[in-house]
Amino acid sequence: MSETKICLNCHNPIKGRADKKFCDDSCRSSHFHKQTQDELFLYKRIHSILRKNRRILMQLFSPDSSKGSVPKTELQEQGFHFDYHTQEIRKGKNCLYACYDYAYQEINEREVVLLKIR
Ligand SMILES: [Zn+2]
Repeated sequence: MSETKICLNCHNPIKGRADKKFCDDSCRSSHFHKQTQDELFLYKRIHSILRKNRRILMQLFSPDSSKGSVPKTELQEQGFHFDYHTQEIRKGKNCLYACYDYAYQEINEREVVLLKIR
């Protein structure tokens, strides 16, 4: 009993060898092209979130440390995504969350301190 194989690209039944995954070369290349496009779209989407996060940190960062903490809501209002960062840097009990060369550290539930890390 052989199961009918379905083309991974066009979803039509495949005729021929049992190990075939595509009808033909054009279905094969179109499948891998779509896969690459999906990956590029994913990278682009996440990169734009990280880039935006970094810009927000950069704009709110002040080298004058006397400025102190920034409310999280101020970051959120500008479109900051707290779920996305490039690194976690542990410093004892504390953790810095970096987006490239800027980072924030939570000082309580509502406020963060911003840092430039390199
Ligand atoms: Zn096909």
